[in-house]
Amino acid sequence: MKAAAIVLAAGRGSRMNSGIQKQFMELGGCPLIYYALQVFEHSSVDEVILVTGKNETDWCRREIVDKYGFCKVRSVVPGGSERYLSVYEGLRAAQEPDIVLIHDGARPFVTDEIINRTIRSALESGSGIAAVPAKDTVRIVDETGTAVLTPPRDRVWMMQTPQAFRYPLIYRAYQELVSRNIQNVTDDAMVLETVLNQEVKIVEGSYSNIKVTTPEDMETARAFLKRV
Ligand code: C5P
Repeated sequence: MKAAAIVLAAGRGSRMNSGIQKQFMELGGCPLIYYALQVFEHSSVDEVILVTGKNETDWCRREIVDKYGFCKVRSVVPGGSERYLSVYEGLRAAQEPDIVLIHDGARPFVTDEIINRTIRSALESGSGIAAVPAKDTVRIVDETGTAVLTPPRDRVWMMQTPQAFRYPLIYRAYQELVSRNIQNVTDDAMVLETVLNQEVKIVEGSYSNIKVTTPEDMETARAFLKRV
């Protein structure tokens, strides 16, 4: 069984309000992207495809991959203007693995346990999506801000990454997504559901597996680093 991980680092990170992209911001003496790559380097995954901004591939190869000795990073490829286009570039660069994991490079606290749970689920049922139960009540609102629906909280889960899939399945879904120009998909599980009408399987993620998006998240990440 061969597993590949696509680690996404091609976002602009506009919600961080920083001159430097969030994936390269310093956290505990290393760039944020270092942490996810470090976990995958020592995981059961065979190879990693790093997706970066168009003009950042050489810099990332030198200053991240070579500098920290990430041997499993087989390719560094330029991403696209939207997350789904970056994923597609990563999928195109993969060398026919059995399982592919798609991970936001902005989630530094992914663990071996989470990775293995998503892989196991993908082998058994085609997909394994890391997620956690919602702590807050979620309310769906209309465009005027009026609440229209309150799903029962015990049925609401917050999607994380990694999201693991059988490679041929997710590659086919993304090929169709791109050729049919379908928009408004916000995670990889949704691509499978929307394009191929396939059910996806949720596995346990972790409340520590945060996505660093805003300056407050950076503070949380610093606190988490001190804890371990
Ligand atoms: O913007 P958001 O926080 O949802 O991005 C999630 C992940 O997707 C980040 O790791 C980001 O670098 C990546 N991304 C990407 N290409 C884009 C947009 C986001 O690789 N065009």
